[in-house]
Amino acid sequence: MNSEHYPILINGELVNTDKVIKVINPSTEEVFASCSKATEKHLDEAVKAAQKAQKIWGESDIAIRQKLLNEIAEKISENSENLARLLTLEQGKPLDFARGEIEFAVMFCKYFASQKLKNKSLKEDASSIVELHRKPLGVVAAIAPWNFPLLIAVYKTAPALLAGNALILKPAPTTPLSTCMFGQIIREIIPKGLVNILTDENELGPMITSHPGINKISFTGSTETGKKVAESGGPSLKRLTLELGGNDAAIVLEDAVPSKIAEDIFNSAMANTGQVCAAIKRLYVHHSVYEEMCSALKDQADKAIIGDGFKQGINFGPLQNKKQYEKVINLIKEAKEKGKVISGGEFSENPGFFIPITIIRDIEDGISLVDEEQFGPVLPIIKYSELEEVIEKANGSSYGLGGSVWGEDIDFATQIAKRLQAGSVWVNQHAAIGPDIPLSGAKESGIGVEWGEEGLNEFSQIQVVNVKK
Ligand code: NAD
Repeated sequence: MNSEHYPILINGELVNTDKVIKVINPSTEEVFASCSKATEKHLDEAVKAAQKAQKIWGESDIAIRQKLLNEIAEKISENSENLARLLTLEQGKPLDFARGEIEFAVMFCKYFASQKLKNKSLKEDASSIVELHRKPLGVVAAIAPWNFPLLIAVYKTAPALLAGNALILKPAPTTPLSTCMFGQIIREIIPKGLVNILTDENELGPMITSHPGINKISFTGSTETGKKVAESGGPSLKRLTLELGGNDAAIVLEDAVPSKIAEDIFNSAMANTGQVCAAIKRLYVHHSVYEEMCSALKDQADKAIIGDGFKQGINFGPLQNKKQYEKVINLIKEAKEKGKVISGGEFSENPGFFIPITIIRDIEDGISLVDEEQFGPVLPIIKYSELEEVIEKANGSSYGLGGSVWGEDIDFATQIAKRLQAGSVWVNQHAAIGPDIPLSGAKESGIGVEWGEEGLNEFSQIQVVNVKK
């Protein structure tokens, strides 16, 4: 199964196409495997197959759908080691973290397997019975980024299938293989054409988002691309769920105890080498605890071990691809001139897209590292004195994915957290997520919801059944 070349999946068949995508290991910059590349013709074939499969699947009993999701979860578990190794090779994350991603994917799949779409009785009186039903949308296209390739593929597949839809999955060009392997392992248990997997080098996205046979796009990626998806899906009024970028602020209050919270803040900023949509990307610290907080975070960063994810004891892998690597280097170079580096900040010429865990203090809003989404292992720490001013700064971003407030007085911290303009706010933690908790971006961090009942509902169409007695 763990071959060097991975075909795409159309109508239950593994298809080798004329064109090949070479996949690079970001720890070595060497090509280690390849997959077939899909064209517009393959997209048309996949849409036709999905439409055919959906006609039957959409009529199936919820128990059959739940059973299939449980079987998919089982298959992922059985193949978890192969999937984790492939994930480390293509994404770069340390093997234990890749294993964690697979476990998380299983958890999401099992969660949706335990759910059902809820019909509602709206009214019943002497003259009528009114009910709200939830129907499938048809063919859903799921477009994923490269930070959690397998998890994102699975957490879009599971609710889409549960709601009675068929699917076209398109992974990111630099991390297609774990999704292709996912297709190989579920192929034998899913009806033909119900899940199709197409890979590309960034050309297929616009063809998918404008395809007349696709009814919904579930997209995770950058805000810039999300806007293109909305524009392209607009003319056919496709249903859209857009989970986009973020520039999450964390606010450390005057009464916080830095030694208690530094490790959690550090991990919330640096997990997956900072390549997490809802990572802490700007840290605002009250002046009274600023020195202590900077020094506690420096200690955390100095201990971090970065390297090839297959080596023992590695906490952080490389950036996933060259484009992101260069972007983060440029942000650090500019920030170094305006703030003070207290850990990391130097780059080597060795192969691999490695950036040391970098902490920059004494920096201000208005600098790209603070204002833009870095999506990498560098955290700016900004000193503040006035609470109202820092709330304004935290909210002064076009993004609104998440935010957190840290302090000993939990009620007070919660009051402040509720004032952040973000889809999720946390107190004394950040990015605490789960399949049963809806995730939604405010402002330019997205449209719609993923996960939980609200996320599941987005894969369905409401039908009101109004019967006169
Ligand atoms: P990206 O937007 O470049 O690519 C995402 C996907 O979109 C890829 O599969 C890509 O091939 C595809 N794509 C590219 N052009 C397209 C187009 N015109 N139409 C349709 N699809 C197109 O994002 P990325 O660089 O792969 O991922 C990093 C970004 O994703 C970060 O900004 C991060 O915050 C965001 N992200 C958000 C979440 C979330 O849940 N909010 C999760 C992970 C990543």
